[in-house]
Amino acid sequence: MGQGIWIDSDKLGADDTIEEVLKHGTLSVGFIGLAETLKALIGAHHGESEEARELGIEIVTAMRNRLDEEAKRTGLNFSLLATPAEGLSGRFVRMDAKKYGVIEGVTDRDYYTNSFHVPVYYPISAFEKIKIEAPYHELTNAGHISYIELDGDPLENLGAFEKIVRCMKESGIGYGAINHPVDRDPCCGYTGIIGDKCPCCGRSEHDNNVAFDRIRRITGYLVGTLDRFNDGKRAEEHDRVKHNV
Ligand SMILES: [Zn+2]
Repeated sequence: MGQGIWIDSDKLGADDTIEEVLKHGTLSVGFIGLAETLKALIGAHHGESEEARELGIEIVTAMRNRLDEEAKRTGLNFSLLATPAEGLSGRFVRMDAKKYGVIEGVTDRDYYTNSFHVPVYYPISAFEKIKIEAPYHELTNAGHISYIELDGDPLENLGAFEKIVRCMKESGIGYGAINHPVDRDPCCGYTGIIGDKCPCCGRSEHDNNVAFDRIRRITGYLVGTLDRFNDGKRAEEHDRVKHNV
């Protein structure tokens, strides 16, 4: 505190209390499962219908307004967060399924969809997904991210890669990520896309019993294995579909 990490903290004496400094921190309210909420309310999520798109914006705008009001009233930094929900995505859906039963498109999976995302299992083009999710970036002033899942090696199609980045920028995506597979053969060191056989040394996974590393992205972490993630996130990764460009 004495080193000025927080606003006004350099003004504190060694024996002062820190309340006056902590109030400069953010007080964020996060949400997950907009897609499941829409499904429960009107039977379709925002990937599926225009009506759901409008209702989704209305809901998140109401949340943001509520926090803005509170910020104005108290002078504190209330803000709205698009949560990736690492542990919560599985925990909440288990609690809801127990209480309300298994409802199709709502509690019938092992996870709730991240924040305002279109569900990972829903087939949709990269550009449509970007256009649907972009308006939420402005509303979630504590943080947000949108993902596009690409198949294959982006180096093989740099034009498409650039088109996605430009579409994100023009649509108002604040933080965009493009996920693509990266494989590695620990035996020969080759990095790239590996099918059944390593294109560098030609070995298959069964030869000398060393598995290929297959790097995937889970809520911001690049991982070679899903072993250490909870069931909800593993189920989510399993359901992900690639987005066409
Ligand atoms: Zn190899």
